[in-house]
Amino acid sequence: MGKLNWLGEFRDQGVEQAFQLAKWPWVRIRLLFLYFFTIAAYIIGVGTDLHDLGAGTGFNTMLVIRAAGVLLGVVAFILLLADQVRLKVQYFVMAACMFMFVVLESHELIFKYSDIGSLSVPSTVFMVLAYYVFLPPRVVPSLAAGLSGSLFYLLSLSSVIPVSSGTFINCALYFALANCFGIFFLASFGISLRREYFAHAELKKLVEYDELTGACSRRRVLEAGNSIFKAACRFNQKMAVLMMDIDNFKRVNDDYGHHVGDAVLRETSRRCRSALREVDYFGRLGGEEFVVILPHSGLHHAVSVAERLRGSVCGDEIVSGNVKLAVSVSIGVAELRRHENFAALLQEADEQLYRAKKCGRNQVSPIQLRVLECGCP
Ligand code: GH3
Ligand code: MG
Ligand code: MG
Repeated sequence: MGKLNWLGEFRDQGVEQAFQLAKWPWVRIRLLFLYFFTIAAYIIGVGTDLHDLGAGTGFNTMLVIRAAGVLLGVVAFILLLADQVRLKVQYFVMAACMFMFVVLESHELIFKYSDIGSLSVPSTVFMVLAYYVFLPPRVVPSLAAGLSGSLFYLLSLSSVIPVSSGTFINCALYFALANCFGIFFLASFGISLRREYFAHAELKKLVEYDELTGACSRRRVLEAGNSIFKAACRFNQKMAVLMMDIDNFKRVNDDYGHHVGDAVLRETSRRCRSALREVDYFGRLGGEEFVVILPHSGLHHAVSVAERLRGSVCGDEIVSGNVKLAVSVSIGVAELRRHENFAALLQEADEQLYRAKKCGRNQVSPIQLRVLECGCP
């Protein structure tokens, strides 16, 4: 998952996309700032144009160029503010805008070439640098906007106004330095952001999932249970909990060793997870004890789910190396009634589990049915 390609991006496209999505809120704010300041700079520039060029054709043409820049910026700003289009479209608009801003900047050269040293070149170099800093942590869009913009500007500089070769080389050096620094910054910043994202995702996985069985961790399943319990009480919804325990599991360890015990835990968890809905939570409480949380489910449905889980665990033998084992589980079921909190509901399911064990294991125990079936208290 954590492998990076030569661009410093995740090789796995799914992971890269998830990373871009996770970073998008912050990138979006940066871009909003960038567009805002670009629009403001274009508007403020009208005053300096008037001062430098006076009223006339030059000023009017500059006004059109500035209006185009403002329009472009405003469209991109609104698109970003609404945030309704896909990320790929945003990136495309962004790169196109950045390129167009530099193109507009290079058009100023025609009318304001006396200004190139003091204003146009530094501001365009700064613009290019900003593209590496403000754009998303992706090399291609920044490189496309920064490099093509720089080349376009230098081309305009050499063909439009009479600059000496010394001045041109100086300008080219500024642009080259801005691009080199930008690429270096973007690559190192992007790589460290991705490393941090990867480490955080790994840590989250460790906290949320049980490493051995792939079930939810005790912490996650109890947290989910608490919040589902609160929502169910608040909105008068159904909810049920199952407590499941593998029967005579100690014997598996004693007879075949821990590695076979581990295989049984893994396979039991896999079978149960594939028998549940996506909205259900399946977690390992510890050892060979599991808990299932069924939102929007009453006792009747929960008992049939429990029977399904029991059937899928004990249906086929579990194979580990050359050992074949018939495994069974006991399950206690409780539905939400007037429980004070989630812990009380869990405790009732645990009491039902105890009854199922007491009545001979490999069975499901809700209170009503147990009394009828085997006369347990
Ligand atoms: P019962 O039917 O009454 O539940 O009996 P049991 O043998 O399943 O229950 P008991 O509580 O006596 O034994 C549970 C065993 O589970 C003891 C412990 O060594 C084993 N165990 C707990 N965690 C793990 C684990 O991660 N891997 C393996 N292989 N064994 C584990
Ligand atoms: Mg057990
Ligand atoms: Mg146990």
